[in-house]
Amino acid sequence: MLGGAGSAAASPLPGPPPDAGLRDLLKQIDPKRMEATIQRLVSFGTRHTASSQDDPVRGIGAATNWVYSQMQDIAATSNGAMTVQKQTFVQPVSNRIPVPTTITNVIATIQGTASPQRYYVVTGHLDSRVTDVLDFTSDAPGADDDGSGVAVVLELARLFATAPRLPGTLVLATVAGEEQGLYGSAFMAAQMAAAGADVQGMFSNDIVGASQAWDGTKPDPHTVRLFVEGIPTTATSAQISLMQSVGGENDGASHQLARFVASAAPYDLTGMNVRIIWRRDRYLRGTDSLSFQQHGYPAARITEPRENFNHEHQNTQVVDGVQFGDLIDFVDFDYMARVAKVNAATLWSLASAPSTPKNVLIHTTPPGTLSGTNITTLTWKANPESNVVGYEVVLRETTAADWTSAIDIGNVTTVDLDIAKDNVQFGIRAVDSAGRRSPVAFPAVAN
Ligand SMILES: [Zn+2]
Repeated sequence: MLGGAGSAAASPLPGPPPDAGLRDLLKQIDPKRMEATIQRLVSFGTRHTASSQDDPVRGIGAATNWVYSQMQDIAATSNGAMTVQKQTFVQPVSNRIPVPTTITNVIATIQGTASPQRYYVVTGHLDSRVTDVLDFTSDAPGADDDGSGVAVVLELARLFATAPRLPGTLVLATVAGEEQGLYGSAFMAAQMAAAGADVQGMFSNDIVGASQAWDGTKPDPHTVRLFVEGIPTTATSAQISLMQSVGGENDGASHQLARFVASAAPYDLTGMNVRIIWRRDRYLRGTDSLSFQQHGYPAARITEPRENFNHEHQNTQVVDGVQFGDLIDFVDFDYMARVAKVNAATLWSLASAPSTPKNVLIHTTPPGTLSGTNITTLTWKANPESNVVGYEVVLRETTAADWTSAIDIGNVTTVDLDIAKDNVQFGIRAVDSAGRRSPVAFPAVAN
């Protein structure tokens, strides 16, 4: 039996071990190269989903071909580690799709070494728009929304193509049809779910290029927002009812992913403070992480600290002396490079660490007992990785935002805790021989 918070067994939460390889990798992120990516994307005039598929210089087709050729060039540097796929489908008519429309995602995959069956996905969306979401002819530069996200994805592809191979698999994708209704990411997520892919983390980089305040007066160049859903998007009414009884509304898998990001991408490593926001996205808005949350995958949106709405979803024009439009002039390339660092540190840490433990259960009536008890029993499935050396119970007050202490419980798959489950939250994470910790798994109720 193990005692709990305040007892000798619980210690402050250890963070990830220092990693010289990761620091070296982050130094390779190049704001100039990311600037060149956005310049090229803007040069296609518009990347609206209904713009030309076959014009060689203007429209979504030309932009897609360019991204695909860039990814192929990058894959050629990877010594066979990276494969690139065009994922094409026809989206039927909907309220923002006036005629059946071909939509193409470009997906680069760097297969993991030890556990390739677990995936970590990063996206940016290639399509752009102006004021009228159906206007596919006007110039829609989309430098920030979402040229910035595409530039992050391409930069990550360049980094990881030549980096040491990691145990987990990385998927770096540009998705399309976002502005018309998240269609590209919806297709991609559905394909992965149909294939049974174990996606353990997904991030949508959408509008990550500007540090300026909405009024242009107070730049905040060292903060990036990370939006995560509260009650999981896939929660059934029975699950919501149980959550109303026992709590856990701040402990979905996406919350645990966000907590992992905060520890994996600290300021001293990335020059960025990650501001976690417990909300699926900005008020009444959406992005491609929703497509993955709809399949129960942990996912989050990465976005700049404040938006300038004069620069998003606007025709390029000057009104009363104010410039409207999503122009490259408003993008801060050093800021964007720091966003890439947050992504890279997170991916590196996720794909290097053990996988998130599965089947974690909290037993209200432990086996062999007849009634409720203050003893808490947790059980889980052993991790598949051969370098896992044990597990930790993590704890916090129900009102605390993040885990505050950990108990080393050794290499077991069940633990009895003399800590009342009524008063705190528990989680389980795996630890490997190098001291790397997995994301936390929050227990479901067993009985
Ligand atoms: Zn966007």
